[in-house]
Amino acid sequence: VRRLVVYTFGAIALLVAAGAAWYFATLYRPGPAHTGTLALTGATVLVGPDLEPRPATTVLVERGVITAVGAAEADIPPDATVVDLTGTTLLPGLIDMHVHLGAPEGERGAEMGPLQVPGAVADAVRFVPGTRRALLAHGVTTVRSLGDDHAWVLQLREGIRDGTLEGPRVFAAGPLFTAPGGHPVVTIGVDPQGDGVRLPATPDEARRMVHAVAADGVDLIKVVQERGGRKRRLEPIAPDVLTAIVATAHERDLPVTAHWGSPQDLADVLAAGVDGLEHVESRGALDRWPGDAPRVLVERGIALTPTLSVTEVALPPDVHRRLRQRVAEFYTAGGHVVVGSDAGMPGVPFGGGVHRELELLVDSGLTPREALEAATSAAAQVMRAPDIGVIAHGHAADLVAVRGDPLTDISAVRDVEMVLRDGRIVVDHRQ
Ligand SMILES: [Zn+2]
Repeated sequence: VRRLVVYTFGAIALLVAAGAAWYFATLYRPGPAHTGTLALTGATVLVGPDLEPRPATTVLVERGVITAVGAAEADIPPDATVVDLTGTTLLPGLIDMHVHLGAPEGERGAEMGPLQVPGAVADAVRFVPGTRRALLAHGVTTVRSLGDDHAWVLQLREGIRDGTLEGPRVFAAGPLFTAPGGHPVVTIGVDPQGDGVRLPATPDEARRMVHAVAADGVDLIKVVQERGGRKRRLEPIAPDVLTAIVATAHERDLPVTAHWGSPQDLADVLAAGVDGLEHVESRGALDRWPGDAPRVLVERGIALTPTLSVTEVALPPDVHRRLRQRVAEFYTAGGHVVVGSDAGMPGVPFGGGVHRELELLVDSGLTPREALEAATSAAAQVMRAPDIGVIAHGHAADLVAVRGDPLTDISAVRDVEMVLRDGRIVVDHRQ
């Protein structure tokens, strides 16, 4: 009997050790923090918030921070590591303003079978290494999580901050504020009791819940206000509850962004005083902006994340064309557009979704340079993150070098040569 006990414990110990070894081997951990000086030479550098192209410009990076743009050869310290980026364009790392990091990637309409569940769980406990890898591989160095399991996404954000996990910087809204009969509870079956949503029934409860997630350290609040379409009615948040959510968030100095559906939903969230809008996804085709919405949005400085890459997957081409027209009207009116893909939703890949969104914004009438601003400096501004999104002295060295010239052909962003995150080279395709 004693021998059996020893064997059993031995077998369990081996399994635990194998599990731990596998866990650490597949975690995707960062290399050492950047030290010394890195000189990036030869690239056309897109400088400043306006992405002004400067050919053959040297960028110096010290301890993860940009210390010089346009350094002369004599300024390069003799012990610097020189990286020749001739033939590439160097731009700030891309920012995806709308992701769901906990969602497994998949094709539209694909259901997760029981055989995929263990893999999904294993992925979640390792904080989705494949997702973090894919984002960086596509030059996405910052993401804004808009609807993930609250405790999980804050742990992921912390792991990346403290150097335990490699990955893009994470800004997180934590749980979605919505109604029990609303999206995403009844639409895609998000657990109403789970940590991914908050369902306040009264203004008092809303205030308590916002204070609680604010104390946990979220970067913003996301509300969902959607009545649904003719096919399925959804429950919106009551106006007094919505107002309490936004007012309490503002008390805590947190911006609020809103998922909206119909023109009435838009009116509700504007009345409540939100700071940002997600999607241009009216349950009709949004044949026109309601009233003088673009002017109101511009006046209030409300940023719009059109997420055209997710609606492209879901909607017929003619409807999608109308959504792009609405984006064009908003932008022409002076509106702030930022890039968000809704990656994690079926059919929208992490990283690749940002490249597609950039192309769709160019299809909507933005110049490639304006589209890139929406994925860099403009996005950083909306996230109140002054250290990222711009190539200038003192900014974080989150950088991406792509082959060719994305200012003439936006699809050049797909041809990633090198990616730096806080000065660490995390992707390197040099021959
Ligand atoms: Zn989303």
